[in-house]
Amino acid sequence: MTRIVYVNGDWLPEDRATVSIFDRGFLMADGVYEVTTVADGKLIDFPGHVARLERSLRELDMPSPASAEELLAIHREIVAKNGVSNGRVYLQVTRGNPGDRDFVFPDPAATRPTLILFTQVAGRPEDSAEAKRGLKVISVPDIRWARRDIKTVQLLYPSMGKMMAKKAGADDAWFVEDGFVTEGTSNNAWIVKGGRIITRALSNDILHGITRAAVMRYADEAQLKVEERSFALDEAKAADEAFVTSASAFVMPVVEIDGVALGSGRPGPVSQRLREIYLEESRKAAL
Ligand code: PLP
Repeated sequence: MTRIVYVNGDWLPEDRATVSIFDRGFLMADGVYEVTTVADGKLIDFPGHVARLERSLRELDMPSPASAEELLAIHREIVAKNGVSNGRVYLQVTRGNPGDRDFVFPDPAATRPTLILFTQVAGRPEDSAEAKRGLKVISVPDIRWARRDIKTVQLLYPSMGKMMAKKAGADDAWFVEDGFVTEGTSNNAWIVKGGRIITRALSNDILHGITRAAVMRYADEAQLKVEERSFALDEAKAADEAFVTSASAFVMPVVEIDGVALGSGRPGPVSQRLREIYLEESRKAAL
């Protein structure tokens, strides 16, 4: 089915949607993005995603293409136009098309940002085979730039990380820096040991996951204790359980790290409980 996508105020069939070859997103990876989950036709954690988008734009001195209210309306319209029940809305903002290639940022008064959105359809999270079996991850060195808190479209190394995992017969990779796990290629990393739930504290070293923040809130409400601190790769391999969080994966159990099985080698009870709590609570708060 041909999707209807959004490009700078226009609604177009996907095969007629285009962006200039001079767009700075294309030439310089000068762009930021957000992925918002759609569950039962509603947007999950939307206020968090729009707040992070605004922060990413601010950090890069990039003009905002639309207000939070306008973005919510566009999100709702694209979901309706494409009849998405379960899936995602992908949004990207770039510094636009200055008409030529130049390292210097264009004058924002003369070059407006590019805003594009499209939808992706997914199965119901309850039916996820991956969540039932759990993910196998490998560790790879974290050689990304030092502003991982900004959600830029510079995704070549995370993409290479996924390919390294696939080549090794695994599902995903965890980045490791100075012996400590930073995060997954496209998710935040968590471990569980002796009932304690541990995830790295927020800094410029990791993306400030919207799902991570929601899971922290819901865990607190369920009286589950979360420790925000760095953990070493060795500590992770000795954990009872592990999981990752992201808008696309929700809470996804991890059962193996570098070939070492965690606990029983099956999705652990804390990860499964948090997945259930997240799915239930985030749906209640969906817009
Ligand atoms: N960390 C990285 C590097 C990511 O790319 C993502 C999502 O794309 C996340 C964490 C999880 O963020 P969120 O929960 O907001 O999807």
